Amino acid sequence: MENLKIEIPSGASTIIETLGAHGHVAYVVGGCVRDSVLGRNPADWDITTDALPEEVKEIFPVTIDTGIEHGTVTVRIDHVSYEVTTYRIDGEYEDGRHPKDVTFTRSLEEDLKRRDFTINAMAYNDTEGLVDLFDGLGDLRRGIVRCVGNPTERFSEDALRMLRALRFSAQLDFAIEAETFGAIQTLAPTLSKVSAERIQVELLKLICSDHPERLEAVAESGLSAIFFPEWDAMLSCSQATVHHCYDVGHHTIEVMREVPATKGMRLAALLHDVAKPISKKTDKKGHDHFVGHPSLGAVMARDILRRWKLDNGTIDMVCRLVKYHDERPQLTPRNIRRLVHRIGTEHMEDLLTLQWADILGQSDYLREEKLERVTQLREGYETILREQQCVQISDLKLNGKDVIAAGVPKGPMVGQALEALLQVVLEDPARNEREDLMGELEQWKKSCK
Ligand code: ATP
Ligand code: MG
Repeated sequence: MENLKIEIPSGASTIIETLGAHGHVAYVVGGCVRDSVLGRNPADWDITTDALPEEVKEIFPVTIDTGIEHGTVTVRIDHVSYEVTTYRIDGEYEDGRHPKDVTFTRSLEEDLKRRDFTINAMAYNDTEGLVDLFDGLGDLRRGIVRCVGNPTERFSEDALRMLRALRFSAQLDFAIEAETFGAIQTLAPTLSKVSAERIQVELLKLICSDHPERLEAVAESGLSAIFFPEWDAMLSCSQATVHHCYDVGHHTIEVMREVPATKGMRLAALLHDVAKPISKKTDKKGHDHFVGHPSLGAVMARDILRRWKLDNGTIDMVCRLVKYHDERPQLTPRNIRRLVHRIGTEHMEDLLTLQWADILGQSDYLREEKLERVTQLREGYETILREQQCVQISDLKLNGKDVIAAGVPKGPMVGQALEALLQVVLEDPARNEREDLMGELEQWKKSCK
């Protein structure tokens, strides 16, 4: 084995040494070895050992039973958590979801054999150096994702591994080895057995990577057809308009690249034009139009994100951005206030980012003018913030109590009254004064009679 040195953090070293002092063997393993060799910063340091979970728990004072049935115990050292997992052989995967049973083993080789890819199947400790039984190092240097063992068998044990292959190829900018990719194309339909939660984890890592363009390979692999058929439709939706130089799918990839790599922004970019394929109408001159695609897209996005089991906060944020991504009112201060009111101040920054990125993913046609427009919208928004103009009910100088005190019955009418007052103030911020609003409220009450 060549002389490769990995800097193990002191907590993980302590665990490995302590287990050694008790007659056991332990290594750092998997992602942290891969990332260290690549000079990347590992997210976490996992440890693999021949010690049984009960033995690990006896040796360390502070442990948590994280996944004790799978052999994983969390050990806390100086307030940092390390997952310590006993060497194991995974049993059959029940319906492609979870291993039905796991068997502990005293053999490191068995443990490395159950891992998904060669680049993820290396172990390391300071005494023995790198343990690399499947040429993971070679694949790291060649930039290749390759299954440990026979790809068809490995994907049949756990179908999620297929999406993981694409996720690693996107994170690391690696190619997928031909036999491995072929097996994915054959077995892609079996991804339907995998839970949405597990798919979500891999999908988010893929779209938040430096290479969202790998989504193209996700379609080629046949996997998106199973969990995201809308994506296949986007990739085959051409756009005959001066504004675009790519089909909807490739435009989407460009926009994703231009937004920050956060869950919300990448999902919003991914889904902003999701309704274009079903909204497309071609006119007599052969030009394409996508009337109504933002609102319809917001409905579709909600459906898709629910299917992927995203949290409600993310769903609301993304759907809002999809709905308003194409909003281009005439930029009067009044119209900008109305837009800020509709989207909500907490989403304005994100909307501006998405609109900017959307333009960068289009053709050069009128690019400077389009970007200038977003800049003006930003300036208008900044004026609203600076002058603390009222753009929502909570900014009004009258509140629900005042409205009730003025004789509006408790219930839905209170909200309607406040909404009516807000409309007045959106029109003219100077009118956000108690006396003025009281007068306005009296008018409103009369109009209700
Ligand atoms: P990340 O940096 O995203 O955490 P990782 O390689 O650590 O990447 P994890 O999902 O945390 O990925 O898994 C840790 C290790 O466990 C992997 O490196 C791999 O060896 C193994 N592993 C994880 N999931 C599977 C799976 N579905 N099938 C086989 N081995 C797996
Ligand atoms: Mg990990």
